[in-house]
Amino acid sequence: MTLPETEAFAVAQGWAKFRGEQVWRWVHDKRARSFDEMTNLSKAFRDEVAKVATIGGLTVAEVQTSKDGTRKLRLVTHDGNSIESVLIPDGEKMTQCISSQVGCAVDCQFCATAKLGLKRNLDAGEIVDQVYQAQRMLAELEPDRRITNIVYMGMGEPLHNYENLVKSLRILTDDKGAGLGQRRITVSTSGLVPKLEKLGKEDVRPNLAVSLNAPNDAIRDEIMPINRKWNIGKLMAALRAYPIEQRRRITFEYVLLADVNDSASHAAQLAKLLRGVKCKVNIIPYNPHPEAAYARPAPAVVEAFQNECKRLGLPTYLRTPRGDDIDAACGQLANRSNGAAIVPLRIRPRVTDPNAPAGGPEGSGPPPPPPVE
Ligand code: SAH
Ligand code: SF4
Repeated sequence: MTLPETEAFAVAQGWAKFRGEQVWRWVHDKRARSFDEMTNLSKAFRDEVAKVATIGGLTVAEVQTSKDGTRKLRLVTHDGNSIESVLIPDGEKMTQCISSQVGCAVDCQFCATAKLGLKRNLDAGEIVDQVYQAQRMLAELEPDRRITNIVYMGMGEPLHNYENLVKSLRILTDDKGAGLGQRRITVSTSGLVPKLEKLGKEDVRPNLAVSLNAPNDAIRDEIMPINRKWNIGKLMAALRAYPIEQRRRITFEYVLLADVNDSASHAAQLAKLLRGVKCKVNIIPYNPHPEAAYARPAPAVVEAFQNECKRLGLPTYLRTPRGDDIDAACGQLANRSNGAAIVPLRIRPRVTDPNAPAGGPEGSGPPPPPPVE
């Protein structure tokens, strides 16, 4: 629940409204994982809350660490579904890639997640808990580092889970909780046009990334069946109308597939398509996985494609694969462990300081977890 929803819930239960904020802050600021940790609430009240509410929802089942420092977390939901979330260190930055669904219904031909099909949407609590669990793990393993950026680029199509996406954005950006900056959050979509239009009208404004992946309808129809419903023309019209603030731009992701979309002529079509749109292009050389028959173009082809885009005036960046040795790179998330060493995670139990001053709705409790910067 968002903070206003929790307050309304408290009132509906017959409690004072401030009780909602008290409990909400314990969960989203102080990161309590049980009602018993909420030491400034009476035992009787904690018991009452525990009868009608639950906290969190995910359990960290395993963590794999790549040679390049990328970590993949497998998290299990209360009903036994596995999802994956990836922590990617990059200089001072630490980006977390989070999932929005168990599997995905969009069926892009090059994506391993597609092969799982859609099992179910994650609820907002499960989306948010990926961040909280990763922060706990990081505080334990690398206390000097913080999660600085969040990308909704894990399993699932975020706009197919619209209500929970928006709710999770509201929770993560609330100053009374994790307080993440909206500019540090990116939502990536395969291009669900009506939902894009809706997102543009929300008061939460994450960065937008669009998985374009093809310069024309013929190729996009083939590799992303969703294009048959909302083709490039409809998608670009929605994006041209999308409210973009000053100094922000849309990111277009372009998975480079050998002999499919990687020629100079494709680069020229792409540059023409994106002319006049405030954007940048991220080229992602295809990450192989057993379920798809595509190939990654040779390095010289990737370089030539990027250079051609740049020559034609497109700001174009090459994404180097991260964590591909543990199947953690873009498009490889499919709940596989590939035989690599899996380190069972042990997080020390929270130490609650019994001497911490008890507070009211604005009060302080045990020391908060490290802030998200
Ligand atoms: N469903 C959303 C977000 C998750 S996919 C979306 O499609 O945007 C995240 C990114 O991974 C997308 O840009 C997608 O095009 C890319 N991707 C999928 N499979 C890939 C693969 N095998 N190699 C490289 N990138 C891939
Ligand atoms: Fe779903 Fe994105 Fe994979 Fe397409 S690329 S199947 S939308 S997760």
